[in-house]
Amino acid sequence: MDMQTSFRQRLIAEGILFPTGVDGLFGRDGRFEAVFDGIDRAITAAGLGDGAEVMRFPPAMAQQTFEKSGYMKNFPHFAGTVHCFCGDDRAHHQLMAQMARGEDWMGDQQPADLVLTPAACYAVYPIVAQRGTLGDDGHLVDVSSYCFRHEPSLEPTRMQLFRMREYVRIGTPAQVLAFREDWMRRGQAFATALGLPFEVDVANDPFFGRVGKLMADNQREQALKFELLVPVNDGLGPTACLSFNYHMTYFGDTWDIRTADGAPAQTACVAFGMERLVLAMLKHHGLDPARWPLSVRETLALG
Ligand code: AMP
Ligand code: ZN
Repeated sequence: MDMQTSFRQRLIAEGILFPTGVDGLFGRDGRFEAVFDGIDRAITAAGLGDGAEVMRFPPAMAQQTFEKSGYMKNFPHFAGTVHCFCGDDRAHHQLMAQMARGEDWMGDQQPADLVLTPAACYAVYPIVAQRGTLGDDGHLVDVSSYCFRHEPSLEPTRMQLFRMREYVRIGTPAQVLAFREDWMRRGQAFATALGLPFEVDVANDPFFGRVGKLMADNQREQALKFELLVPVNDGLGPTACLSFNYHMTYFGDTWDIRTADGAPAQTACVAFGMERLVLAMLKHHGLDPARWPLSVRETLALG
């Protein structure tokens, strides 16, 4: 058993993660969720006073919104679509027979006009766009959503369904860049308060295909994405637990969001990978949160 499997196995043996038979899909117990809630509170505390508008979303978005977001161009391999049975009695009978025979029964499923959300901030832009031109201060949103990415893995940190919390800034280039710089500092203070070892590095997304390599090179060269990395899985490189993204005018152009002076808005976000942060805490402070350092328990308000 390698070390990477062993962290996962320990979490399962302790009853902290419930395996489901599918890689990257887990249930979690009360200890995990208590830490999750503590991290959620700490993120709220870190952004308190900034006046962010709170938005919470279900794990799926409208197919139309998803299409317009351009996600399929860059990450078709991650996307998950929702399909449903829409047939009559006869079709139902046939479906049951197919299932009983162990045959494929998915072929007749119809699109439900829903796509699983790949990143929490994707739901925000069309809503802000609908409101018309931004005010002088632009806008700040505190968003969270379950997210889906089809990347089954044995690493417990790489899940197919996970929760993402983000602060999203929409405004002028100066506002958006100041936000990202500020959050790169705050993100490090956050990790320090949680007692986690970390490094921050420039990063790139796993864009699909041959063109994807160019996209990734460009993202890295322009320093559009930074990550705060914490060693979680033994024997592997550190894991990105926070990311700091600068989209320039990509979403502003896509959704026609404009700043007060009529220019396309720029956007940036800081994203917290919630399960990854919980796993990082369990890794570094031990599987029993009751025995964690007092300062860490206080930061999480674990009581
Ligand atoms: P990204 O949009 O890729 O920067 O993702 C935002 C944050 O979500 C990352 O910094 C991670 O902490 C988290 N994340 C991304 N992919 C996964 C995954 N497969 N499982 C768990 N967390 C993830
Ligand atoms: Zn985002």
